[in-house]
Amino acid sequence: MDNKKHVLIIGGGLSGLLNACILLKNGFKVSLLEKHFQIGGCLQTFTRKGKRFDTGMHYFGSINKGEVLYKIFKYVDIIDEINLFKIDYDIINYKNRSYKLMCDRDAFINKLAKDFPNDIDSINKYVDKIYEVSSSSSMFNLTIPKEDSYLKEEFIETSVYNYLSTFVKNNDLKNVLCGLLPLYAGEKEITPFYLNAYLHRSYLDGSYRIIGGSATLANALVNEIKSMGGQVILNANVNHIHIKDKFAIGVDYNSNQYLSADYIISTIHPKRLFEITDSSAFRKIYKTRLKNIPDTISSFTIYLSFKSNRVDYMPYNYYHYYGDEIWGGENYTKENWPRNFLYMHMSDYKEQRYANSGVVICYMNFEDVKEWSGTSIGRRGKSYEEYKKEKAEKVINLIDKEFAGFKDSIEDYYTSSPLTYRDYTGSENGSLYGMHRDCRRNLETTITPQTKIKNLYLSGQNISMHGMLGVSIGALITCSNLVEIDDVLDQINKE
Ligand SMILES: Cc1cc2nc3c(=O)[nH]c(=O)nc-3n(C[C@H](O)[C@H](O)[C@H](O)COP(=O)(O)OP(=O)(O)OC[C@H]3O[C@@H](n4cnc5c(N)ncnc54)[C@H](O)[C@@H]3O)c2cc1C
Repeated sequence: MDNKKHVLIIGGGLSGLLNACILLKNGFKVSLLEKHFQIGGCLQTFTRKGKRFDTGMHYFGSINKGEVLYKIFKYVDIIDEINLFKIDYDIINYKNRSYKLMCDRDAFINKLAKDFPNDIDSINKYVDKIYEVSSSSSMFNLTIPKEDSYLKEEFIETSVYNYLSTFVKNNDLKNVLCGLLPLYAGEKEITPFYLNAYLHRSYLDGSYRIIGGSATLANALVNEIKSMGGQVILNANVNHIHIKDKFAIGVDYNSNQYLSADYIISTIHPKRLFEITDSSAFRKIYKTRLKNIPDTISSFTIYLSFKSNRVDYMPYNYYHYYGDEIWGGENYTKENWPRNFLYMHMSDYKEQRYANSGVVICYMNFEDVKEWSGTSIGRRGKSYEEYKKEKAEKVINLIDKEFAGFKDSIEDYYTSSPLTYRDYTGSENGSLYGMHRDCRRNLETTITPQTKIKNLYLSGQNISMHGMLGVSIGALITCSNLVEIDDVLDQINKE
C-alpha cells in the first residue's frame, strides 16, 4: 500500500515545478495543479509563424559548474537538458553613452576602470561589497536561511541608492553601477542594497540565455516530475482550499473537482491565496499586512519578429535610459513614457549570426490599462488593440534612433500589457516580480513560507526573492519544512 504523504502544489511556474521535484526525490507523492493549458508561469514561451518568444525569463547567472543554480539543477537532474548561450556583457546606455557591464568580476572592474579612471576605488569597493553581502547569504552558500541573520542591517535597511551614495561620489558611475535595476524593478529610496547585491553577484559570475527558450527548462522539470511518478494537472484552476481544524485537507479545482492532501504548497500570489481560502483561515492582521505590501511595477512588452538575415544577433542585453538618472522609470507621463527600455534577442542556436526574434520591455503601471481590466485574453476590444499599437510604434521609433535600420527589419510584432501578465500568471496587477522588498519596512515586507495553517506552506517569487535564483533557493527553503534539509543540502553541495 502506498503510504507516501501527498503534497498538492498550486501553480506550475518555476517554483511549483522545483518544489515538486525536490519533494518527489525525497519520498513524497506530489500533484501539481496549474490553471493554464501551458506549464511554466513566467517560463512560458509562445510561437508565431515559426518564431519563438520568451515571455518572462530571458537570462540568468549562477549556473557555472559549482555555482548555486548548477548544483540545484543537477540535483533535480535537469542540468543536461538545458543548453545555454553565454553572455559576456550587458550594455547600459545612459546620457547617450554606452557602458559595458561585463559579466565577470575582474573584467567588470577593468572595463569600468577605463570608463571611470578617477573612481577605481569606488568600483572596487562596490564589487567587494556585492561579494561580501552575497557570500554571507544562505543563497550563495546553500545553507538554511537562519544564516541570513548574519547579513548586516545596513545592507537590508539601506536602499541601493543610499548605500552607494556613501562611497560613490561620481554620479554617472553611481547610475551606471545600478544599470541592471529593471532586473529587480529597483526604486531609488526603497530597494534594499542586498537585493541588488544578490542579483548583480549572480550575473557577475556569468550570464546565460537558454537556447531554445525558457519553456525548455519548464518541460525538463515536467519530464523529471513525471519520471518520478508525480502528477502534473493542466487546466486546473484551484478555486478553494478546504481547511478543517486548522489543517488544509484538500482543494477544489475547476469548481467541481476535489483532491485531498496531507500538505499544500501555494506558489501563487498571497492575495490570490486569500481569495480561495476561508476568511477565518488567516489572522486579519496577517492578511492586512500582506495586502498592504505594494507590488513591483508591470511592463509593456513588444515581441519582435525580424525579417530573415537582417538583424545581427546581439550577444548582449541592451538597457537604455532617458534623462540624467536611471532611477524613477516608474514615474512617467503619457508624453515622456518610456523612461527606459530593455532590448534583448532570443537565443535559437549555439552559433547565431542573425536574430530571428527579440523582445523589448518597458515599465508600465497597471493604471494605464485599467479601463480594460474587466476583459479577458483575446477579448479586450478594438480600443485596447489601438492603444497597444500606439505604444508599440512609439517604442519602435525610439529604438530606431539607437539602432539604424531597426524599424525596417521588423516583419511582425506582438505586444503584451500588464493585463496579459495578470491573466497569464495571476501576478497582482501584472507585476513583474511580485511583492516589493522595501528597506524602510523590511519586517513588514518579509514573508515566511510557514502559515498559521500548519500544513499549508508558501513558496515562489513573492516569498523569498524573484527570478531564477531567488525562486530556486526559495523552493529549497519551503521544502526544508518537509524534508531533512541537511541531507538534501549535503547531496546538493556534492554536485
Ligand atoms: C517580463 C519578465 C521578465 C523576467 N525576466 C527574468 C530574467 O531574465 N531572469 C530571471 O531570473 N527572472 C526573470 N523574471 C522573473 C521570473 O520569471 C519570476 O520571478 C519567476 O519565474 C516566478 O516563478 P513563480 O513560480 O514564483 O511564479 P509564476 O511563474 O508566476 O508561476 C505561478 C503559476 O501559478 C499559476 N496559478 C495562479 N493561480 C492559480 C490557481 N488558482 N490555480 C492553479 N494555478 C494557478 C499561474 O498560472 C502560474 O503558472 C522575469 C519576469 C517577468 C514578468
